[in-house]
Amino acid sequence: SMIPDYLTDVLEHVEPDTSGATAGYIPELADAEPEQLGAAFATVDGQVYAAGDCDAEFSIQSISKPFVYALALADRGFDAVLARVGVEPSGEAFNEISLEGGSGRPLNPMINAGAITTHSLVGVAGSDPAERLERVVDGLSAFAGRQLEMDESVCASEMAFAHRNLAIGHMLRSHDILTEDPATVVEGYIRQCSLLVTTRDLAVMAATLANRGVNPLSGKQVVPEPVLRQVLSVMATCGMYDAAGDWATQVGIPAKSGVAGGLIGTLPGQIGIATFSPRLDAHGTSVRGVSLFHRFSSDMGLHVMEVP
Ligand code: GLN
Repeated sequence: SMIPDYLTDVLEHVEPDTSGATAGYIPELADAEPEQLGAAFATVDGQVYAAGDCDAEFSIQSISKPFVYALALADRGFDAVLARVGVEPSGEAFNEISLEGGSGRPLNPMINAGAITTHSLVGVAGSDPAERLERVVDGLSAFAGRQLEMDESVCASEMAFAHRNLAIGHMLRSHDILTEDPATVVEGYIRQCSLLVTTRDLAVMAATLANRGVNPLSGKQVVPEPVLRQVLSVMATCGMYDAAGDWATQVGIPAKSGVAGGLIGTLPGQIGIATFSPRLDAHGTSVRGVSLFHRFSSDMGLHVMEVP
């Protein structure tokens, strides 16, 4: 296959770009090795192509959000989830204290306010925090097709400086969007963000989204098919936060970024794509990851609005 050579070529092309900086607000992420660089494609028929540091582990961070949204929709149904989290792009940064006027609902599940709420909606109603977290870990592991572990130092490091997410949690509690202790929910959300993945894992997770919720390696139905249209639509409109419009026009692939440097894209019925490089731009998205996706999109004609 030509694909591994192609991947190696594009990685070499973006490697000289050392602009951006590792996430400063989480000390453990600030200290990440910034030169790491990897990319992987996973097809819906289970082929995985990977290059560079594709087996290096890093925390999933915000890339967990679409997957946990999928679990919440599967566990509680659309109405119960939509009653608490909207689907409108916010046009704001990921950590904005952004709640709908009146209802206090977070605008969408890709920003932190929405993701903290989504975390509270996983599992059967009335689950305790440990059961909920177990559902998140097992669910994300099923998307990846292997058991995922938590990075306790990344988790502790984010917990020590979680003031902004705690403030968001308290705002959600004041609007009764959260109905329990907000600090407990925020801790669960931060644990969720600390799960360790590789670029290869992320490509398989993205391919599971592309493959009607069936993991193409394990063959397991992770979430019911109707969930996927909802999740991919929200990724397409809200996944890149305040860069969503630039991304939609220039790259045109439903995507989600994370502040550890991961980035995924999903092409329904075709492939999951993942990249990893820790230096971030002003939106908290991997600089080299954005360049790689621009190249993938134009080299292979992957923009979803373009007639093939
Ligand atoms: N855990 C991070 C936070 O809540 C995730 C943010 C991200 O990856 N964009 O700030």
